[in-house]
Amino acid sequence: MSVPTQKRFIAGAVCPRCGAQDRIRVFMEGERTLRECIVCDFEDELSDAGSDVLPKGRLDGPRRPPAASAAKPMTFHPPKRRKSSDA
Ligand SMILES: [Zn+2]
Repeated sequence: MSVPTQKRFIAGAVCPRCGAQDRIRVFMEGERTLRECIVCDFEDELSDAGSDVLPKGRLDGPRRPPAASAAKPMTFHPPKRRKSSDA
């Protein structure tokens, strides 16, 4: 099946080669996500989720939240002194 790939510009994306901004567009090619610069013909393949440039609408899953605080804060209680009665 052939679905026409929709190329969309990425707002704010900067071409790593020529530095042009808003000239990067991303499109899908099969399972891959490619980006290209229309200024200098730069082309690159994006890795999966986590990239700086990724078209919305396709999420590989929710990102894992940062590891829960495994280290519990230590509460230090100074030992209570017994009153030394000099009886
Ligand atoms: Zn470029």
